[in-house]
Amino acid sequence: MDTQSTRLSLPSEPRTFGFYVDGAEVPAGGRDVFERNSPGHDVPVTRIPKCTPADLDDAVDAARRAFDDRRWSGLNGQARAAVLLRAGALIRERAEEIAYWETLENGKPISQARGEVAGCADMFDYASGLARSLHGDSFNNLGDGMFGLVTREPVGVVGIITPWNFPFLILCERVPYILASGCTIVVKPSEVTSATTLILAQILTEAGLPAGCMNVVTGSGSTIGQALIEHPRVDMLSFTGSTAVGRRVVEAAGKSNFKKLGLELGGKNPQIVFADADLEDAADGVAFGIAFNTGQCCVSGSRLIVERSVANEFAQMVQDKLAKAVVGDPLDEATQVGAITTDAQNRTIMDYIAKGQAEGARLICGGEALDMGRGQYIAPTIFGDVTPDMAIAREEIFGPVLTILPFDTVDEAISIANDTEYGLAASVWTKNIDKALMVTRRVQAGRFWVNCTLAGGPELPLGGFKQSGWGREAGIYGVEEYTQVKSVHIEIGKRTPWIA
Ligand code: NAD
Repeated sequence: MDTQSTRLSLPSEPRTFGFYVDGAEVPAGGRDVFERNSPGHDVPVTRIPKCTPADLDDAVDAARRAFDDRRWSGLNGQARAAVLLRAGALIRERAEEIAYWETLENGKPISQARGEVAGCADMFDYASGLARSLHGDSFNNLGDGMFGLVTREPVGVVGIITPWNFPFLILCERVPYILASGCTIVVKPSEVTSATTLILAQILTEAGLPAGCMNVVTGSGSTIGQALIEHPRVDMLSFTGSTAVGRRVVEAAGKSNFKKLGLELGGKNPQIVFADADLEDAADGVAFGIAFNTGQCCVSGSRLIVERSVANEFAQMVQDKLAKAVVGDPLDEATQVGAITTDAQNRTIMDYIAKGQAEGARLICGGEALDMGRGQYIAPTIFGDVTPDMAIAREEIFGPVLTILPFDTVDEAISIANDTEYGLAASVWTKNIDKALMVTRRVQAGRFWVNCTLAGGPELPLGGFKQSGWGREAGIYGVEEYTQVKSVHIEIGKRTPWIA
């Protein structure tokens, strides 16, 4: 790649990856191979093996052995932390490579991918500290004859299934925390964005992670994904993806071994803007919240709930902001909004735009595919005159489509915000602390932003209320999710006999 220019060049040929089992890359061999085209350019960029269910069994067996013989969970926190810190350093060394392949497979702007990769290295740094500080509890108040301990133990073999919108970031919001807890891992990345997950497996081996602790099996959701969620020797599963597939995960866990589940599902997230907000900041935040990652974020602020007295003025401000967002080639350093990641998602977004118009919403801007010569792009889109019953106001579009819903009172704003099956994230924009706190308390969402949006980092947990999911990832909460608690009663001195 030519890093001198402001636009990176495409690879001369697709990069071929193997999958990853027991500390080593396994070439595709005679297996079928999935050739991935870059959504921004429509040229082949990677070749990824389509694993078989037998490959998945090998990966689970490797993870099982690595967990059961305690080669990882038996190490002290200091040793586990050292591996995680080295992994963070190696991610930084290979940051440009990771960002490049992430951009090619996903279609996100290279500048954004670089930022995400830097954040991922930081996740490893932070989780390394948690490997050392994770602890239980003690009860010294049970009388002289008894002492109580609560210990945390790693759950065991953890399966991870990830989506295509943030392939590396979502992975790194989980892997270092799971490893910090002492568990071992089998990952099934999205079939269209597997490259950077395979690079992370290489990095972890180089960082000193024992063989078998991180395995990656590539392939489709219906074959490998389904086999992983049903697998009887997997103790826990962290699934990130659509609510529809999340339901299948819950069913499969019930039908197999009742594996513990973490679910991070969809969202239809409100951005509540009061007339007393700094409207300039809020307009920038709302534009960012819907156009970042082309709106293909579970936490995109897709419902603008704005006080009626400023609704028209504010819609114009957001429109002006979006008009200046640079949409284009993801490999161009100046691009802010890249390509739509999959053909299917491109069709879904265009169908919702048509549906919004058919339902009677007013198209304020965008609403069309953008011709960049190659690849698939959609202009950031705003709909006005939206009513809460319209599909575009209720269903997750997962694209750069903003719907505007006006309100008159604080109670009405809260009620519209909560009128959804989802509860993933929400933002409120106001300079009035009372309103900000009231809305933060009463809107049902696992992540909340006051006068900002899409902020995040390794310290604070992620996860949803209602049908947006179960459990939390990241932070100390993220490590604790991958542990189970054991209570230990220790009798001191002579037992009081039951039979005299
Ligand atoms: P998806 O549910 O189609 O796929 C997600 C993953 O599940 C992929 O790896 C896929 O191969 C796999 N999969 C598909 N069918 C499966 C099956 N039957 N059994 C097991 N695995 C299966 O979702 P997507 O289209 O990749 O991503 C978009 C969705 O993900 C959106 O709904 C979005 O909100 C959600 N998402 C949520 C979060 C979050 O943190 N809450 C983050 C990112 C994406």
